[in-house]
Amino acid sequence: MYVLGIESTAHTFGVGIVRDGEVLSNEKDVYKPETGGIIPTEAAKHHYALAAEITERALKRAGISLENIDLFAYSQGPGLLPSLKAGWVATRFLAEKFKKKIVGVNHCIAHIEIARMVTGFEDPVMLYVSGGNTQIVTYDKENRKYVVFGETQDIGVGNLLDKVGRKINLPFPAGPKIEELAKRGKKYLRLPYSIKGMDVSFSGMETFLSRIIAEEKIEDLCFSLQETAFSMLIEASERAMAYCKKDSLVIAGGVAANARLNEMGSIMCKERGAKFKFMKREYAGDNGAMIAYTGYLMKNYEQGDLRPKPSFRTDSVEILYR
Ligand code: AMP
Ligand code: MG
Repeated sequence: MYVLGIESTAHTFGVGIVRDGEVLSNEKDVYKPETGGIIPTEAAKHHYALAAEITERALKRAGISLENIDLFAYSQGPGLLPSLKAGWVATRFLAEKFKKKIVGVNHCIAHIEIARMVTGFEDPVMLYVSGGNTQIVTYDKENRKYVVFGETQDIGVGNLLDKVGRKINLPFPAGPKIEELAKRGKKYLRLPYSIKGMDVSFSGMETFLSRIIAEEKIEDLCFSLQETAFSMLIEASERAMAYCKKDSLVIAGGVAANARLNEMGSIMCKERGAKFKFMKREYAGDNGAMIAYTGYLMKNYEQGDLRPKPSFRTDSVEILYR
């Protein structure tokens, strides 16, 4: 069975193809604003303009044509409505043309499922860290739902990196550049460490950083930012592992590309005798393969409302495939 998955919740337009759950192709293009953050309508324009080209690239790489596709999956939310609509329009066009079924995939769950697939862990705690989202998720077998054990009370950690990056004139997305600069940081600056129970919050750190930006070296700012924000995330993840008695950790989402975050995760897991594996970079950020793969898992789902859901919660989906 061939599934074509479309991702378009925010900045990325991605198309992935899987055959019986095995990834054959994963093509994407990322909208990058010239200045400032994402403008949703501009991101959507980018997606509409590139939809056909990215789809063709994915098909070519997979060595198949649209006629071969048995099921179309798309990222139903959460995300920016204009961006989501672009994926929805493209998916509906293709599914109607080829008279095939559509499944609507929860974007956060797709990040988690592909991370589980890559690591092969049976029942991990999942730290899902991207631009707009930051969640610590576990799977509740009895209720067949992902449970959000902890999450950000304000902005996602990627968003924090991007906002701080903008203040020091780094292009979007700032995460990779901050990671490079942080390697040359020497002085640790004490930043607000904001963790309440299982939840974290980052806007205090952002405000604090903007006040000291002019006085400190950029490398030290980036270093301290990473050390503080990532420690908060790893602390909350460790607490979830201890509480739920789970012995493995998966880090998913765009920020999972960060080597220092992975290093911290691996140290924490080693100390408690738990398992940890690095995420493949190509599946860390938003991508179509994770949508196609999760769509494949959901192939037997009958869904009522397939329209985009900008506030689609991770813990609202019944997981019938596990
Ligand atoms: P996503 O929405 O899952 O594609 O994640 C995008 C976010 O990941 C953006 O906020 C990026 O700044 C962030 N990001 C990408 N690469 C890295 C990296 N190497 N280190 C930290 N953050 C990163
Ligand atoms: Mg994402």
